[in-house]
Amino acid sequence: MTMDNNNNNSSIQDSNKNEIGGQGDGGDDGGLPLVQCVARARIPTTQGPDIFLHLYSNNRDNKEHLAIVFGEDIRSRSLFRWRPQETQQDRMIRGAYIGKLYPGRTVADEDDRLGLALEFDDTTGELLASKATTWDVRNRTLVRIHSECYTGENAWSARCDCGEQFDRAGRLIACDHEVASGIKGGSGHGVIVYLRQEGRGIGLGEKLKAYNLQDLGADTVQANLMLKHPVDARDFSLGKAILLDLGIGNIRLLTNNPEKIKQVDHAPLLKCVERVPMVPIHWTNSNEGIDSKEIEGYLRTKIERMGHLLTEPLKLHTNVQSTEANQTQTQTQTQKQMNAALSSTSTLAI
Ligand SMILES: [Zn+2]
Repeated sequence: MTMDNNNNNSSIQDSNKNEIGGQGDGGDDGGLPLVQCVARARIPTTQGPDIFLHLYSNNRDNKEHLAIVFGEDIRSRSLFRWRPQETQQDRMIRGAYIGKLYPGRTVADEDDRLGLALEFDDTTGELLASKATTWDVRNRTLVRIHSECYTGENAWSARCDCGEQFDRAGRLIACDHEVASGIKGGSGHGVIVYLRQEGRGIGLGEKLKAYNLQDLGADTVQANLMLKHPVDARDFSLGKAILLDLGIGNIRLLTNNPEKIKQVDHAPLLKCVERVPMVPIHWTNSNEGIDSKEIEGYLRTKIERMGHLLTEPLKLHTNVQSTEANQTQTQTQTQKQMNAALSSTSTLAI
């Protein structure tokens, strides 16, 4: 799964210099990592629209970060840029084609069945994005920047709402309008950037240890601190670089986390023009979504300790008394350790 080839990374640096400079910032990347889309493929889904899965490499780590793209016309500039000596077949194999592939197709840059053709700068090989073929950088695009969560996405975990949020983001991007929430959807255009930073960046092994500490009475913030990890070690700079590479300039960000909005905004190139809330499904429909003691505590910690913007539904909840009762219990050894860990940390702000 990993790409540890040094030559690979150095070629990313070289070929991406033009890319980020090409976004109009005069070559100053603002400290963003350099990213390159390695391959793109159409994935038919059970949810309705096809998605285009983009796999990225970068110059910061060896992980395979992804972009799940709704809309064939949202184009990675690094993927579509012409490379020396490549053939049309090479371009189709790595996914740098317009329209739809079909048996016998020979030209990547033109789809004669759909009457679409891409244009490129003869000198640099850069894609010339025209409105007829490519999503406009000024469009307000529905985006989720999602951090990998093996347990929530693959192990049916009811400790967190990551799996639910991931599914919901896809449904919102696909639809015109979500009736239950009144949220305007993406009408089939949008991006889920999928960053490989498990457990808020601490990795799966450490996350499992944190879960055991939570079973011993810690909340998600305390558990990380007891394991000598930051409350939140995630870094969204790769997400920003990937969105810029996809030609996205204005985003409607699906998040409850105000800190994420600040971290993702990269004006003037990438602007968060709207925050679209992700209220847990179970809070608006008690027959659906995740219902567990663990997720109540997890969401409460997100709101009370991490500043997530979900105050109204919390007031509707009924377990406030039980939380207060817990606080009056005699301190256990674990709780004393938690307090020690917390007092040794100057700030909980993330
Ligand atoms: Zn999770």
